[in-house]
Amino acid sequence: MNFPFVKEAVNSLFKKPSTERYPFVKKEAPLGYRGRILFKSDKCIGCGMCIRVCAPGAITKSTKKTDDGEEITMNFFMGRCTFCQMCADFCPRGAIELTNEFSMITEDKSNLNVSGTFIKKLPPKQQAGSQTISKQV
Ligand code: SF4
Ligand code: SF4
Repeated sequence: MNFPFVKEAVNSLFKKPSTERYPFVKKEAPLGYRGRILFKSDKCIGCGMCIRVCAPGAITKSTKKTDDGEEITMNFFMGRCTFCQMCADFCPRGAIELTNEFSMITEDKSNLNVSGTFIKKLPPKQQAGSQTISKQV
């Protein structure tokens, strides 16, 4: 009997694997890679532009009234995100960044949420009569 592959198989046992040893050997993402979102809640103004441009609907905004304004929570669900970067490109405040973090393997879906909360303060109340509007004829 002729088993040509046996020699090849035995030889392969003593060769280095041709595949990468990830995750045992850490791998860097290439420059410009679009990975897990980083949300900077201190820059966000809650305008909702990112929600409007997100085709898969991966972004949600929830609000809660507080004494000094509105508590806004933005959530980016990486399980739906296609990493298109539209939200970051359209954000007028640079509050969204796509990082080079590519490994998002998890058994818990909640680990795929990227969120941040901030308070949007109410404008200061104007006192009655403090502003006079002049009408020019
Ligand atoms: S992240 Fe940017 S686009 Fe989205 S609500 Fe905040 S400021 Fe607006
Ligand atoms: S990268 Fe694209 S898909 Fe992901 S949250 Fe932003 S707009 Fe939505």
